[in-house]
Amino acid sequence: MGRVKVRATRVLPGPAWHELGDIELAAVDAPGPDVDVLVTPNEGVELDLYPVLRLIANYGVGYDRIDLDACRTRGVAVTNTPGVLDAATADLAVALMLAARRGLVAGDRLVRAGAWASHWSARQELAREVSGATLGIVGLGRIGSAVARRARGFDMEIRHVRRSEGDLDELLRTSDIVSLHVPLTVETTGLITRERLALLRDGATLVNTARGGVIDEEALVDELVSGRITAGLDVFAHEPSVPQALFDLPNVVLTPHIASATVETRSAMTRVVVDNVLAFARGETLPTRVL
Ligand code: NAP
Repeated sequence: MGRVKVRATRVLPGPAWHELGDIELAAVDAPGPDVDVLVTPNEGVELDLYPVLRLIANYGVGYDRIDLDACRTRGVAVTNTPGVLDAATADLAVALMLAARRGLVAGDRLVRAGAWASHWSARQELAREVSGATLGIVGLGRIGSAVARRARGFDMEIRHVRRSEGDLDELLRTSDIVSLHVPLTVETTGLITRERLALLRDGATLVNTARGGVIDEEALVDELVSGRITAGLDVFAHEPSVPQALFDLPNVVLTPHIASATVETRSAMTRVVVDNVLAFARGETLPTRVL
């Protein structure tokens, strides 16, 4: 890397990583007096620890934990990894729709517990379908659009809102499944309030592969405990902490922020990070600059 000092807070998967050569590995909160470039997966960066920092190469499309105002003030550029994780994230959103509505995880648990026979004789309630359901997409950007393409294969009726278009309350009232795909910003923090959760139809399914902070998590827990709706959640307000009250509920499927965690996608994300770092070292235009 010549005279550019690069620090990464972890080793990233995939062959592209080796193109960076022998770089420093250290925690984000360790002082980096001579670090020019920091590679990090959306971690909060205390810029006072990095007096000569010029680039944060974020390993992910979401950069909500990075203080853009502080970076702007200090002339620190920021890059992310848009596009390459759309398919994997959209796939997981659809998987969560199917799992939550068809009772996949609860059914698996029941079989493993040897409770199949007794359960069948007692069971009255049936699952809800994904095919033909009305899907409300909140945030029709790269990932939201990839979800829409998949939903067409399930003959779903699709509606959407984005920043400049659509009525969120109306979408919540009229959808069987609501899937969130907005970034976490000042405007979207707590976007799905208690009052808005109450607009969801009985038996509706809420899927969140965006960010936990987009929903009032306490209100969501109350709604799920009541059993009125189902949910598939990949993200939480205070990761890796998950509300204890969700653990025993059959109507929610929980995954540990794995929407982009596939061999293919994580390697592609590493490629984008490395391309940004190499471009920086050569003084070239940064391929996926957000600031
Ligand atoms: P994107 O292409 O920028 O799309 C974001 C969409 O959200 C846009 O349609 C935008 O509207 C809309 N939006 C923004 N603010 C809004 C608001 N206040 N109200 C309504 N809509 C709003 O982003 P993306 O690449 O699809 O990624 C979306 C997010 O997914 C990321 O920021 C990240 O947090 C999350 N994510 C999570 C995982 C995971 O592992 N779980 C993986 C990847 C991504 P306009 O079109 O009008 O601008």
